[in-house]
Amino acid sequence: MRNKLTPSILAIFLFTFILSSCSSFAPEPTFTPTTTIIPTATATPFSTATPILPTATTVPAPERAKYTLDTTLDYDAHTVAVDETILYPNHTGSQLNTLVMAVEPNLWEGGFTLSSISIDGTPTTTYSLEGQRLDIALADFFQPEQVMTINIRYSLLLPAIEETDPNVTRPRIYGYTKRQTNLTNWYPFIVPFINGEWVLHEPWYYGEHLVYEAADYEVNLKFTDPATAPIVASSGAPEPQADFTKYTITSGRSFAISASRDYQVASLQVGDVTVSSYYFPLRDFPGQAVLRTSAEAIQVFTQRYGPYPHKTLSIVMADFKDSMEFSALYFHSPLYYEQYDGDLMNYLTFIGVHETAHQWWYEQVANDQAQQPWLDEAMATYSERIYYETLHPDLVSTWWTYRVDFFQPQGFIDIPIYEAQGFEPYRTSVYLKGAHFFEELRARIGDEAFFAFMQDYLAQGRGKILTTTDFFRILSEHTSTDYSDIVRQYFQNIY
Ligand SMILES: [Zn+2]
Repeated sequence: MRNKLTPSILAIFLFTFILSSCSSFAPEPTFTPTTTIIPTATATPFSTATPILPTATTVPAPERAKYTLDTTLDYDAHTVAVDETILYPNHTGSQLNTLVMAVEPNLWEGGFTLSSISIDGTPTTTYSLEGQRLDIALADFFQPEQVMTINIRYSLLLPAIEETDPNVTRPRIYGYTKRQTNLTNWYPFIVPFINGEWVLHEPWYYGEHLVYEAADYEVNLKFTDPATAPIVASSGAPEPQADFTKYTITSGRSFAISASRDYQVASLQVGDVTVSSYYFPLRDFPGQAVLRTSAEAIQVFTQRYGPYPHKTLSIVMADFKDSMEFSALYFHSPLYYEQYDGDLMNYLTFIGVHETAHQWWYEQVANDQAQQPWLDEAMATYSERIYYETLHPDLVSTWWTYRVDFFQPQGFIDIPIYEAQGFEPYRTSVYLKGAHFFEELRARIGDEAFFAFMQDYLAQGRGKILTTTDFFRILSEHTSTDYSDIVRQYFQNIY
């Protein structure tokens, strides 16, 4: 089934409309960079007939793609102008004649207006944009271990974030409310190429559908009116420049930005990591509490799994009723701030720990979130148990009762997002029954093998996209105990 939000016919119509109305529809990008930040986009006009591709001998292929996003945000008009440059190394092992990018802002009517695309400095018109999918046909084969530079200029018209029925559709995050603007999945990005196919799944009513390669990001963010610029939380470490701020993150999955003129900010240092909590006025008590919780969780997971990978972690009080992870940033539902009473058994803490754990399971080790969501969601949920057993061992049984078993979890845990009968059945199977799978597995193979496995899963998967098959392959390297009956009980497929 396709998502009702994205009928392809409408998308084709929209695309036609956008192309035919560029000049009147949205402003051209207005970013005026200094000479240090836009390297090549207009520097070298190549012949359109024979694009000159850099070779492996002249440009060594970097380990990951690098995205540079020169971004101008008009906070009050809800528009964004972007000049995006991607340095993309072909590590697919295949010669490619197309590139496929995810363009999530194009899921909104009039949300994405493309101005130009160029490949290695040569403008191209051989592309098609339909719904969230941008296909670029390449003039020549793109060989393995070569590097390509893609420049895309576009503008965004942000949608208003609307209230949704949480039992049917999880709230959308991208867009603006009266007091918050969120840029999530806001730039075109090259989707993974796995087993000969570009991986771009359809959106769904709940769950996440995108799959991310690790990449380096540099976001140069400026506001049209600096005098009224909001406070910014983002995935990157900030470095103020003359008239913009440069944010960088190394080996991230997705670069998120949240801006508001109302944020209060509190910060804590954990080793060399700065953890910051951004919350709305009158929410100091929960805003400070979740800051401490995430700081503790970083320490616990560093000790149990391996180090936190970034210099910052930002916790953002959402202006929509959900929590959601991005690289070095997570949104946290305002309901949890309202309900927080200082007790240790509460959703502000459960989900704060859960979203922090995604910085290991999602961020460092990624997975196909649409087809195999249990890999990050069950691990992040079970990581809540690890947090409680480490810091509040007397509360572990209450955590199971209140957080997990109250919902009587059932069903198989290895279902794609599209197979569940609604968000609640999805959550109880994948997240909650998933936590029971980890508990049973750990009891069977013992703590020593279990934590050696978790650490090795992190070490082998860091910067990669792992599968359920990888999970069981790595697990089998750490135990000779038979756990096949547990797998049969929790999994519908054979791995
Ligand atoms: Zn989660």
